[in-house]
Amino acid sequence: MLWFVVVTWLCNLNCRYCGNEPNPYGEPTWISYDLKELKSFISRDSEPIIAFYGGEPLLAHKTIIWILDNIPAEHYVLQTNGILLRRLPPEYLRRIDTILVSIDGVREVTDYYRGEGVYDAVVSNVRYLRRIGYSGDIVARMTVSGSSDIYRDVMHLVNLGIFDHIHWQLDVFFDAPPHRYDDFSSWLRQYVKGVDLLLDFWFNELSRGRVVGLVPFQGILKILLLGNYVKPPCGSGQTAFMISTSGKIFACPISPSEDFLVGHIARSEPRELPGKIAIGPPCTGCEFFTSCGGRCLYANKTMLWGENLFYEVCRATKHLIRRIEGLIPKIRRLVSDGLVSWDDILYPPYNNTTEIIP
Ligand code: SF4
Ligand code: SF4
Repeated sequence: MLWFVVVTWLCNLNCRYCGNEPNPYGEPTWISYDLKELKSFISRDSEPIIAFYGGEPLLAHKTIIWILDNIPAEHYVLQTNGILLRRLPPEYLRRIDTILVSIDGVREVTDYYRGEGVYDAVVSNVRYLRRIGYSGDIVARMTVSGSSDIYRDVMHLVNLGIFDHIHWQLDVFFDAPPHRYDDFSSWLRQYVKGVDLLLDFWFNELSRGRVVGLVPFQGILKILLLGNYVKPPCGSGQTAFMISTSGKIFACPISPSEDFLVGHIARSEPRELPGKIAIGPPCTGCEFFTSCGGRCLYANKTMLWGENLFYEVCRATKHLIRRIEGLIPKIRRLVSDGLVSWDDILYPPYNNTTEIIP
């Protein structure tokens, strides 16, 4: 299972789309339980993946070092804003299998959302990762909001040539209705057009034998081909859980609220947690449930923007799934011609916190 271990709720940035709340729902700013309890809890999961999460996890770099040294896991993952990457010594950075660095696209957009100078700092630190011989998976983790142009921003990150994969998540349903968009519906229409262009680009490159690491396309393709996967695709409440600074366990990493509380590391067994909170209507009755998986447990449960806007995003999701489905026969041909391999195309190889459906 994937364990998002929140090592601190504190963050050194103050991004426009984030509350930056160092004590959400009264949780302690720093880990308040004994780390040996965490070790004991995770040791009872036979295939643990540990994702260091926050806040900004590198503010608690000593805790990360302790966990890397003391708690065995199949994979380690770090989700970071990328500013403090050099706080972890190179030998520890190299032990992390996937490092997801937040960057939203071109400099103007990244700095507008995340703060002046963030883009340059992140790009410089990712280049540093390469210099120290980091050979894991570096994922550009984009938040796509009202000032984003999905085609321009993704292509910019592709052309930088420093990321193995690029993943984006829509800034929808996380807080009050869409105040970071001038007109959400028309923005979404432009977004869908941009994603179509990106998919054309991705498939053209595939036809030339180059697999561009665009996670939503690769992840949806994997779901469509292999089927039988966890719902929602991020695994929340089924195969992925967040351990907050108090030791409480929640179904989704973004919300330590009572509504998502499923246990505590001192009192729960890992095997008891899956399914306590699961995707419900309207997704369970949707004809795309087998491929979309309900997209996001948090959105499904909170419906913060109401049904109409929820279904608008669904239309974008369904459109993308249908388009990728339509490419499958051609992609099969490319693979059977030996131009590309399924191993390179299908992603992620394990739950590395990329949620698949944007
Ligand atoms: S398309 Fe919408 S309603 Fe259907 S499963 Fe996905 S999120 Fe749920
Ligand atoms: S996609 Fe939704 S349910 Fe999954 S981790 Fe993100 S916010 Fe939580």
